[in-house]
Amino acid sequence: MKDLELSIIIPVYNEEGNIEELYDKIVLAMSKLNISYEIIFVNDGSNDQTQIILEKVYKRSKIPIKIIEFGKNYKKSMAYSAGFDNADGKYCITMDGDLQDDPFEIEKFINKMKKGYNFVSGWRKKRNVGKGTSSIFSKFFNKIISISFKISIHDIDCPFRLIRTDIAKSLNLYEGNYRFIPLLALEKGAKITEIPIKNLPRKWGKSKYSNKKLKEGFFDYLTQFFLFKYRKKPMHFFGTFGIISIILGLLILFYMAILWFCNVRPIGNRPLFFLGILLFITGIQLFSTGFIAENVFRSFPGSNKEYTIEKILKK
Ligand code: UDP
Ligand code: MG
Repeated sequence: MKDLELSIIIPVYNEEGNIEELYDKIVLAMSKLNISYEIIFVNDGSNDQTQIILEKVYKRSKIPIKIIEFGKNYKKSMAYSAGFDNADGKYCITMDGDLQDDPFEIEKFINKMKKGYNFVSGWRKKRNVGKGTSSIFSKFFNKIISISFKISIHDIDCPFRLIRTDIAKSLNLYEGNYRFIPLLALEKGAKITEIPIKNLPRKWGKSKYSNKKLKEGFFDYLTQFFLFKYRKKPMHFFGTFGIISIILGLLILFYMAILWFCNVRPIGNRPLFFLGILLFITGIQLFSTGFIAENVFRSFPGSNKEYTIEKILKK
C-alpha cells in the first residue's frame, strides 16, 4: 500500500449543521489534487446531533475516514492531540469544522510544503470575528508574540495549518496552548512559513469562544510567554530576581550595620531595616524556588531530549 500523504484533522464541538457540507467540500476539493488523504473528525464531547451526523458521513464515505468521539468536552488542545496521535498521513492539515476555512485552499498549503517548509500557517488577512472579539486586540497580540518570540507570522492562532506529522505528534498540547502551536513547533525546529487565506463567515451555529476570548487569551499569553521563555531554565527567572533582591537586602543591612556600629542612631525601629530583612529573605526564597523548579524540570523523563530529526543518513 502506498503511504498516506495527508491527514485532514477537524475538531468539532456542536457542529451538526456544518459537518456534511464540510465533508463534501473537502472530498470535492481533494478530488482535484493527486494526493492520498484521510479525514479525521474529533468530536469534542458535543451534546447535539454531531456524533450521529459524523457516523452517517462515516458510513457513506469512500475515502479513509476516522471518527474519534470524546466522552466530554476536553477542549481544542486535546482534540488536536487525539487527531495527531491517530494521524497516518505524512503531513497533517488542521482546519475548523464551521466552514470558516475553505477546503479548496488546501492546495496552497501543499504547494508551500513542496517548497521545503514543514509548517505552513494560514493568515486570515480579513478576519470574520465573532461578536465581542476585538480584531485590534488580536492584531496587537499577534504583533507582541511575533516580536517577543522572533517568529515572523501574522496570525499565530489561525486554525488552518499544515504540519509535518512527526512534529505535530511531538507537540506537548494542553489547555489553551493550541493557540500557540507555531511557537511549540518552532521549539521543535519546524521550518515555518505562512500564506494568506480567506476567512469565511461561520456557516451554521455560533462561535464557542467570542465572549471569553479576550480575558482567556490574555492569561494564556502570559502563561505561554513565561513557559516559553523559562520552562527549560527557571533558574534564569527566579535566580535573577532572587540575586537582585539578596544584593539590595544585603546593601541595606550593611548600611544599617554601619549606623549601628557608629552608634549614629537606633536602627531597630527604622522601616529601611525591615525592608532590608524582607528583601534578603524574599531573595533567598526566590533563589530556592528557581533551584527546585530547575531540579523538577530536569528530573522529568524525556525533558532533556526534546528534538525532532530532519533526516538521518545511515550505511
Ligand atoms: N471546538 C472544539 N472544542 C471546543 C470548542 C470549539 O473542538 O471546546 C471546535 C469548533 O467546533 C470549531 C473550532 O473548534 O470547529 C473553532 O471554534 P469556533 O468556530 O467556535 O471558534 P472561532 O472561529 O469563533 O474562534
Ligand atoms: Mg470559527
